[in-house]
Amino acid sequence: MFTEADILATLQRLWGYPSFRHPQQDIILSVLSGSDTLGLMPTGGGKSITFQVPAVMLPGLTIVVTPLISLMKDQVDNLQARGIRAAFLHAGLSRREQRYITEKCRFGKVKLLYVSPEKLRSQSFTDILRDFDVSLIVVDEAHCISQWGYDFRPSYLEIASLRDLFPDAPVLALTASATPEVAADIMSVLKFRPGSTRHTLSFARKNISYLVRFVENKPAMLMKILSSVGGSAIVYVRSRKRTRLIAEELIAEGIPAAYYHAGLSPQEKNERQNSWKSGETRVMVATNAFGMGIDKADVRVVVHIDLPPTIEEYYQETGRAGRDGKESVAVALVARNDKGLLTRRLHEAFPPRDFIRGIYEKVCVTLDIAIGEGYEQVYEFDFERFCKRWNLPAAPAMSALKLLGRAGWLEYVTEYDTRSRIMMLMKRAELYELTLPPRAARLFDLILRTSTGIFADYEYISEASLASSLRISQQDVYDDLLLLSRLHVLHYVPHRTTPYIYLPTAREQTADILIPQSVYEVMQEKMKRRTDAVRDFFWGDSSCRVSRMLAYFGETGAEPCGKCDICREKRRATASLDLLTPEQLYPMVEKLLKEHGELTVSRILDAIKPAGEQRSASAVESLRQLADEGKIIIDGLRVLPPR
Ligand code: ADP
Repeated sequence: MFTEADILATLQRLWGYPSFRHPQQDIILSVLSGSDTLGLMPTGGGKSITFQVPAVMLPGLTIVVTPLISLMKDQVDNLQARGIRAAFLHAGLSRREQRYITEKCRFGKVKLLYVSPEKLRSQSFTDILRDFDVSLIVVDEAHCISQWGYDFRPSYLEIASLRDLFPDAPVLALTASATPEVAADIMSVLKFRPGSTRHTLSFARKNISYLVRFVENKPAMLMKILSSVGGSAIVYVRSRKRTRLIAEELIAEGIPAAYYHAGLSPQEKNERQNSWKSGETRVMVATNAFGMGIDKADVRVVVHIDLPPTIEEYYQETGRAGRDGKESVAVALVARNDKGLLTRRLHEAFPPRDFIRGIYEKVCVTLDIAIGEGYEQVYEFDFERFCKRWNLPAAPAMSALKLLGRAGWLEYVTEYDTRSRIMMLMKRAELYELTLPPRAARLFDLILRTSTGIFADYEYISEASLASSLRISQQDVYDDLLLLSRLHVLHYVPHRTTPYIYLPTAREQTADILIPQSVYEVMQEKMKRRTDAVRDFFWGDSSCRVSRMLAYFGETGAEPCGKCDICREKRRATASLDLLTPEQLYPMVEKLLKEHGELTVSRILDAIKPAGEQRSASAVESLRQLADEGKIIIDGLRVLPPR
């Protein structure tokens, strides 16, 4: 049995943090006692610690299922820097890399293994897993398992089969976004056992003011907001083209801005992100591709020009404001036709079944996959080119890909590792006998000097920086690396430039591509309900917006936030109706009497200017009360200080 002192000691030793945050300790103790555990914590709450600490303490391997491939590498680096042995696996890695990592796990050389969910669909992989000594199964972004969730991923359903493989290992499910239905679903799909526990950190964000502005001229309003609230900002829109247009408008107005969307090259993304992080670029105008894993503490304002499709996404995107705890604002700009747009999106998300089958066929033709081929294969896939080639409308085509994914026909993976990497294959001693052409020899020499870790593991390299050190072209570097790879000196995995499609099964006849009701009609109904929730949040009743958002996440009975546009409006309205109480009136009267000795009632009313008849009447009433209490004297129409 592990005690509180044990886990605190581990935290202090490896992370150097003095104490746990609520509810980290409860989650860790629950996991270590072998209970299935659900942790609901908003982003930034500190989820990673809740599985990393147990992973270090438990005897076997901890498997962490996460869809965020682009973040795996950073997490693993981070752990390795603390001396914790960690690795990651996803279908985008080469077979050789995958084999290398599974071998390390088999020999107990890894404590934490991050795995992307689509790996679990591969029979060959689960066969390998069988040999591992697994102590804990962690499901990150656990809402992806629920068909009720806004981000359901069919491959997540495979996680349940891990349970059967390792019946003794407890499951820890973590998410930053779960409605009560989703939370219940997570526990049911993951077959939580009796005695399971659940821990929640409130989703309230006290330092963010949620404001909704109903305007037709959104760009003008955006300008107004950015000039009245200083500091770093993110502006969310839903089209790539508009990210650029709006950024250009801001720049024309003298506001340092940049734009960001999934279609940029990795290098462009990096440069823009860094410039925004450093504060050089003040405003990032972006699609929802921006923000995941970006930890910038001092974002003061998040503006939504287009409405998000779900409350979950709105909560997540606005939560990028005020991570430092300082006052920040989240503003949504809403126009008259936005309600209609929500309905249109709902239609586009469920194109007719024939269209979906057609997309499957076109994908296979584009990728040159014959019927009966493609089983467990990965193909690079450029969605924009695909749409152009077949003259397809982008929104329904994307929806069709997602639905095909849900039905298990293919997996369109847009989260992938964009960097090149290498690992040594020859032993040091063998290198003496190696003869290479001069240019490749110089390159190899440079690699040996700069990438010292490649004898032990894959290391990332940059063809561009190798090229510039050697004053040769990137193409030369690429050619020489391929040569070294062919000679089995090292293994070179060139970077990916496009997302990919993964086929869990061989290509089927188009007519056999079934999209079941559970994927189509049922999901459609659920999306409709989520759209209704968005509609209710922006246009619905006049109660506090934050309370409504929290209620959506299952936190009922929250006090009004006092900061959202509705709370503010209410305060203004009641303030002007407010009656002047004796307590409010007394300091003013006392001051006037000190200055003037005595005054008439009407002079007092003039001086304090109570707006409206009701307020004047209440002022007179309050003066009487003050007289009753002996604080002033009223003599006819004169008011005097007490004797
Ligand atoms: P989440 O995954 O919930 O978004 P993270 O696990 O990334 O959050 O943690 C957010 C930040 O909080 C990280 O910078 C992490 O180092 C820090 N953190 C987490 N737990 C603690 C703790 N007990 N004490 C101090 N800092 C912590």
